[in-house]
Amino acid sequence: MATNIFLEMVKGNIPCDKVFENEEFLAFRDINPQAPTHILIIPKREIPTLNDLADTDTELAGKMILLAKKLAAREGIAESGYRTVFNCNRDAGQAVFHIHLHLLGGRPMGWPPG
Ligand code: 5GP
Repeated sequence: MATNIFLEMVKGNIPCDKVFENEEFLAFRDINPQAPTHILIIPKREIPTLNDLADTDTELAGKMILLAKKLAAREGIAESGYRTVFNCNRDAGQAVFHIHLHLLGGRPMGWPPG
């Protein structure tokens, strides 16, 4: 299997600009931010894409969304607004095959996304 750079961050082998960590999740700033706030929220468990989530993962998925909400408040973008995105596979442009929830905010964003 190809190197999973996000899993290496979980293991502490690759540094990241960490904004949150507990036993289940890690959140860190994107290395190539697309907005003033651009945070990636990942589970520590290895899950390549959204397609690999199981019916038993409802709690994990829900916790990721709630963590995005909390971090948005901490970043001061809760009221101005923010976007949360899961990219899945080729057409969505997924580049790292370890699920991650993008939290983007701090500027107005267009719709539909490109
Ligand atoms: P995707 O296109 O897979 O949804 O998004 C992957 C994201 O991971 C991109 O926004 C990219 O900038 C970010 N990324 C890729 N490699 C690294 C890295 O080594 N460190 C950090 N902090 N972000 C990364």
